[in-house]
Amino acid sequence: MNAITDLPYTVTRQRDVVDALRKLLPERCVLFNDEDIRPYECDGLAAYRQMPMVVALPDTEAQLVQILQLCRDMQLPIVPRGAGTGLSGGAMPIADGLVLSTAKLNRIIKVDPVARTAVVQPGVRNLAISDAAAPHNLYYAPDPSSQIACTIGGNVAENSGGVHCLKYGLTVHNVMRVRVVTIDGDIIELGGAALDAPGLDLLAVFIGSEGMLGIVTEVTVRLIPKPQRACVIMASFDDVVKGGNAVADVIGAGIIPAGLEMMDRTSSRMVEPFVKAGYDIDAAAILLCESDGTPEEVSEEIAHMTAILTASGATKISVSGSDEERLRFWSGRKNAFPAAGRISPDYYCMDGTIPRKRLADVLLRIEAMESKYGLRCANVFHAGDGNLHPLILFDANKPGEFHQAEAFGAEILELCVEVGGTITGEHGVGIEKINSMCVQYSPQEREAFFAVKRAFDTAFLLNPDKAIPSLHRCAEYGKMHVQRGQLKFPDLPRF
Ligand SMILES: Cc1cc2nc3c(=O)[nH]c(=O)nc-3n(C[C@H](O)[C@H](O)[C@H](O)COP(=O)(O)OP(=O)(O)OC[C@H]3O[C@@H](n4cnc5c(N)ncnc54)[C@H](O)[C@@H]3O)c2cc1C
Repeated sequence: MNAITDLPYTVTRQRDVVDALRKLLPERCVLFNDEDIRPYECDGLAAYRQMPMVVALPDTEAQLVQILQLCRDMQLPIVPRGAGTGLSGGAMPIADGLVLSTAKLNRIIKVDPVARTAVVQPGVRNLAISDAAAPHNLYYAPDPSSQIACTIGGNVAENSGGVHCLKYGLTVHNVMRVRVVTIDGDIIELGGAALDAPGLDLLAVFIGSEGMLGIVTEVTVRLIPKPQRACVIMASFDDVVKGGNAVADVIGAGIIPAGLEMMDRTSSRMVEPFVKAGYDIDAAAILLCESDGTPEEVSEEIAHMTAILTASGATKISVSGSDEERLRFWSGRKNAFPAAGRISPDYYCMDGTIPRKRLADVLLRIEAMESKYGLRCANVFHAGDGNLHPLILFDANKPGEFHQAEAFGAEILELCVEVGGTITGEHGVGIEKINSMCVQYSPQEREAFFAVKRAFDTAFLLNPDKAIPSLHRCAEYGKMHVQRGQLKFPDLPRF
């Protein structure tokens, strides 16, 4: 209780924060009533929820600077938020913190067809960049399946990928410069118009930093010419092992397809009735394998890939005959996550990366885990990158099922590390995989992460307790999961 007002501390604190914010922003930009802030209680990882204390929606960068200075002065934790489509809880609020939404910073500042760049504010949707560049026959290559909704600010924070990233690279390969507001309200620019810049490559450090180092207020992205032609092969396999090995065979032959994606039978059966993409629902697995370039390059590559897929055991091969058919083939893959809702009340989307040559082996081990945990799992993923997206299907209303799903997911991530892979491909760590970071990184490596965090955010206010686990947490996790009941590091300090 507050001795003077007799109100609980949380109420007086919220009132103080709202009063202070209203001096900086119009009233409509400060939300704190339950019904207004409820939509912000989670991101795409809806299993975890937390109402924030307050939500601020600045209209300008100048307002955003003042908000950060205020948060620093009031020691108020900040959770940046784009569209909230993240799947690892990165934008999940903190109970005594502020959610800083970039929804109103959504202007495309400039498209430069000569430099082949676009300068955009952080709240611009991924697909809107390509739409703006289309009159110049250019587009922005990284294409998360959520691209209709997710923002470039969120893409930068997560280093997002997509179907076409196998050939064209992740966000980090397609962003040239970011403008960032630091926790002290200073504006810094990382990267630039040239391919290289003197000094440390802080742009690469920043991309993928999950809102922990600063707030992005402007992004310069690289645009590339639309290919003259694109064509996709849909290949069926009668077992997932052959499908997994076919992926390694295509890449091993020296081809880098514009996209190389795999869906197992559970996935194609959940998508097909919904999207009617023309998938072979009897196949144990299907591969979608795209080629783009000049008409000659595409014809040659499609013929080469068809031969390899046939030799790898494909039972059926269809090649898109028009751009309309190509987009229809992809529409099933792009809508796979939402389609999970057709066959299960809840799903938990994992994201781990493994060496391509271990695909078949890992898929079989995930299949065995389905029996162990008593839950189904649909596999739909960026096979060419070895980036898995197992969708664990569960019913949160059935007692214990969510915890089973969590344990299933954790075992998949540990398997990824065991086979030489990593616990995230493109969805980030957030809160979801924070324990798995303890499996992947040594205490010394995690301390190096913290050192970078401290260098940008001395007050530890920017998205705290996300992405990098404390040593203490890892000791706890070791006790629970990794070291079979033995507390390995009982004397570790919290940080
Ligand atoms: C159906 C579906 C399909 C998806 N497919 C893909 C896919 O193919 N590939 C892929 O990579 N991801 C995919 N995702 C995950 C998600 O869309 C991406 O991670 C995306 O980049 C998140 O963008 P967002 O605007 O929604 O960010 P949010 O979810 O709002 O935030 C994500 C993180 O970015 C931080 N952040 C947001 N804006 C800023 C800013 N301006 N400055 C600093 N930090 C900021 C947040 O704090 C948070 O940590 C998918 C999600 C869904 C729901």
